[in-house]
Amino acid sequence: MISELRPLLNEMRPHLKKVYLVAFTGVIYSVSMARMLLILKDLQDSFAKGSTNLVVEVSVIAICLALMAAISRYYHVFLMNYISELVVNSLRLQLQSKFMRLNLGFHSNYAAGSGGLLSRILNDIKVIQDGMRMVADFFREPLLAVLLLGNLFYLNWRLTLSLLILMPPLLYFLRQISRSLRKYVLGGQENLEKMTSTIKESLDGVRIIQSFNLENVLSQKLKKESDDYLEIRRRIHARVETMAPVTEFVATFVILGIFFYFSKEVAAGTITTGAVLAYIASMMAINQPIKKLQESYVRIQETIVASNRVFSIINEPSEVPESYKNLPFPKDWKKITYKNVTFSYHNQVTLKNVSFEINRGDHIAFVGESGSGKSTIVNLLERFYDPASGEILIDGINIRDINLKELRRNVALVSQDVFLFSDSIERNIQAGDFNRELKDVEPVAKSANAHNFIVHSGKGYKGLVGDRGNLLSGGEKQRISIARAFFKNAPILILDEATSALDSASEVEVQNGLDLLMEGRTALVIAHRLSTVQNADRIFVLKKGQIVETGSHSELLALRGEYSKFYELQR
Ligand code: ADP
Repeated sequence: MISELRPLLNEMRPHLKKVYLVAFTGVIYSVSMARMLLILKDLQDSFAKGSTNLVVEVSVIAICLALMAAISRYYHVFLMNYISELVVNSLRLQLQSKFMRLNLGFHSNYAAGSGGLLSRILNDIKVIQDGMRMVADFFREPLLAVLLLGNLFYLNWRLTLSLLILMPPLLYFLRQISRSLRKYVLGGQENLEKMTSTIKESLDGVRIIQSFNLENVLSQKLKKESDDYLEIRRRIHARVETMAPVTEFVATFVILGIFFYFSKEVAAGTITTGAVLAYIASMMAINQPIKKLQESYVRIQETIVASNRVFSIINEPSEVPESYKNLPFPKDWKKITYKNVTFSYHNQVTLKNVSFEINRGDHIAFVGESGSGKSTIVNLLERFYDPASGEILIDGINIRDINLKELRRNVALVSQDVFLFSDSIERNIQAGDFNRELKDVEPVAKSANAHNFIVHSGKGYKGLVGDRGNLLSGGEKQRISIARAFFKNAPILILDEATSALDSASEVEVQNGLDLLMEGRTALVIAHRLSTVQNADRIFVLKKGQIVETGSHSELLALRGEYSKFYELQR
């Protein structure tokens, strides 16, 4: 069990000093508690003797012990809770950072979608947090139990030894229950993941949901998932809650038995009433560590499940490796070369032996039917994925060897689905590069044809764009994303269907911005509309992951092949 918790315990390493303090205060607390119970014997016996001095002396010791127990308990619990917050905080940050670094393949394959990942960062982390608080209990309570057992042995070892016979069946019972729990806990967390995913979809897709009257469908979906979850939780509670009554029931018999035994011993004068009092008190007190241990045993099962789920993401290898040699991006590069590039999603080959060269400053267009591999080609350039074989070179340097951040800094992407952060227009254009002056924002917005609508919108550049840019029209969003690309000022530009989602009027405005953006830059353009590709220096025609034709617009028309078929279709 400890080995399964190792990754989580490793997270406590940076807080080792606090962990030691938790252990230390836990020992002080347990010792003073156990000793305090034993003092009942001295107290009662000194009463019996009628010695006031002795009573006062014993009372002073009792008060000191109580004070020690109170102070150490405070620090013990406070520090452990604080450590659990610190660990969970770090896990949350690690998860978010990991999510952003995992390659796109991982994200598109993740069955429960982004909602599922959200569930790991919210729900599993919450379970871990609750579980970690129990770590202190797991350390302290056995110690307390052992010390109390020591009291019992000290007071009457024969009786105590015979009571220990009860331990194996109780432990066996506990083990059986916690074993069956783990299965349900895992099911529960998986269910929670599905629910979070559905809830996220209900929010993200609210427009489509309302338009297609899907409210009931989604309600039913969540209802089914939460009913399943409810059933699992019911089973968990049903098992967990059997433990306390069973042990309490057994304890009643034991205590009655002890009373019976002691009544005889006291009558025979072989034991003092003080010792009886202390024995019974220690016996009752041992109930608490047993209960706590049962509870934390269950919690630890939950924590192991949640921790496995969290660390499986944190340790997930499917990241694009940073960079093999960490070379700088070649400043005065002349050409980009794709050499025998092959790529597949799962086992489905998407690009087959694709080779071509692009000179700096060229405007290249990719044409081909949907699914022919156009986006995949440009995605490889930013290393959202790495090719299965072949290489992509910039002036002979494999892009895998170039520092990943630098590589991406040199490529600007404008795509069909514009993503705006829920922030101001200005900050969306700056896209993280906040060190540069705000006065740089206005000129780029002008170049992107966005300035006019921004100043006429009332709030200007400080105006908010709403959740994912919902307060803006499609054309406006796209012009902001073009301004963003201008602001980034990268020499390589990828335009992935940048105008496809727009109506003709906004397409013209956006296209003007794009034309200006492409000036002096190397551009890889994917467009459905042939009107936007006619001016490209070279056009690559793709079919089923292969380049089947290459040339300028007029050359390709003269070929009378695939391209001219497209052209005829669109005229
Ligand atoms: P295009 O841009 O020409 O429409 P894509 O490059 O987007 O084509 O896709 C090429 C092929 O790869 C398609 O058959 C598509 O279904 C598949 N594909 C694209 N993305 C993924 C993905 N994340 N996982 C699995 N298959 C994918």
